[in-house]
Amino acid sequence: MAEIQLRNLAHAYRPNPQGPQDFALKRLDHTWRSGGAYALLGPSGCGKTTLLNIISGLVTPSQGQVLFDGRDVTHLPTEKRSIAQVFQFPVIYDTMTVAENLAFPLRNAGLPRAEIRARVEETAAMLDLTATLGLKARGLTADAKQKISLGRGLVRHDVNAILFDEPLTVIDPQLKWQLRTQLKQLHKRFDFTMIYVTHDQTEALTFADQVVVMYEGEVVQMGTPEELFERPAHTFVGYFIGSPGMNVLPAKVDGAEALVAGQRLALPRVYRDLPAGARVELGIRPEFVQAGVEQGLTARVERVSDIGRYKVAKLDLGGLALNAILPEDARLDGDETRIAFDPARLHLYLDGRIASGEGR
Ligand code: ATP
Repeated sequence: MAEIQLRNLAHAYRPNPQGPQDFALKRLDHTWRSGGAYALLGPSGCGKTTLLNIISGLVTPSQGQVLFDGRDVTHLPTEKRSIAQVFQFPVIYDTMTVAENLAFPLRNAGLPRAEIRARVEETAAMLDLTATLGLKARGLTADAKQKISLGRGLVRHDVNAILFDEPLTVIDPQLKWQLRTQLKQLHKRFDFTMIYVTHDQTEALTFADQVVVMYEGEVVQMGTPEELFERPAHTFVGYFIGSPGMNVLPAKVDGAEALVAGQRLALPRVYRDLPAGARVELGIRPEFVQAGVEQGLTARVERVSDIGRYKVAKLDLGGLALNAILPEDARLDGDETRIAFDPARLHLYLDGRIASGEGR
């Protein structure tokens, strides 16, 4: 397994890009630690596949370098990079048996017969494919075919990294959970460098130690699931991760005081000399909004939904929509309520990016 370094990388599919809007991938410096389990998370079109294909060599970046353990591989073709890639749809040989499909990458690598057999059996056992080893792939279900694809990615131990591009899309929801857990266990056991592309936050958060969030061709945050939850570096991260996502409230801020929907709010930190013309917003996750308190901002209660273990209150703060997650036994009497924000979890954003401010 290798450490993968992206240096000053950027990519535009069109020749002669004129501005940032022409780049599918904006400038990026990033290191993927050897043996790390990463998820690349973001909405459709944000550049995840482009980035993955640059690492595997399917796409040559228009700018910058890709290094494997310090060695420049930017212009090396895919087959020379020793990368396993698993795609959204099965890439297998229909006329071969399951065993032959799994053995294929090992035969290509020239491994001895006995070792090939052992690896094929081990991989099949991990993916519950043992009973199908002798069957032709053609007649199998879509789930089983995709498991063979996964197996072909996992069977080699000499690869620099395994790249997964939304590999569980065609898999039945029940099996998805199981496979994700198996991938995680495999990672622990073999210390593979794994990069897993998905637009599904649950998939990203359960699979990865580090989640890399992309938005409009940029990496906007990399962190553990906890870090993304507690301190979203960008309003997009706050909105994309969590259910419901972070509340983002336009505000006017002066020092340690904010004006939100015409109401004054004391801030936990001091923000001085904010750039003129910047979009100023406060971010607070619904989990950290308290409702029904004695003192605080006044909001109108629109609706309270009981989700089972907690309630979600939809509030109106002077025309701004706001969600609050409340304990199961919470009651909001009347149309109006007072709300408070946990100061440790209240963040200020300038043009979408978190500002740190100073201690009071
Ligand atoms: P999805 O989840 O839908 O696959 P993604 O995050 O993987 O999306 P990319 O496929 O990397 O995003 O696409 C990033 C941008 O680059 C998009 O605007 C897309 O239209 C564009 N793009 C992708 N591939 C090509 C290509 N071969 N030629 C031109 N533009 C492309």
